[in-house]
Amino acid sequence: MEKFSIIGSKNFPVIPEKCPYCESSNVHGIEILGAYDGDLLWECADCMLRMLKFSIRKTISLLEKTEELYYDMESAKNYYA
Ligand SMILES: [Zn+2]
Repeated sequence: MEKFSIIGSKNFPVIPEKCPYCESSNVHGIEILGAYDGDLLWECADCMLRMLKFSIRKTISLLEKTEELYYDMESAKNYYA
């Protein structure tokens, strides 16, 4: 399972025009299936840092839902192996 490293606690409700870390304009949204219907995080394609769209608390509670989903997919894979 992929671990999410999120820098800082500042959140950006709207996609940042520039990465606040490396100033790249190559920032895109990340959708995480099962967690939220729409972009949940922003990611800089250059330095790969992820930024919050929602508060850290809301983001973590949404990601926790996904952990269960990944867990279930993992057990299904074991079952069919
Ligand atoms: Zn960057």
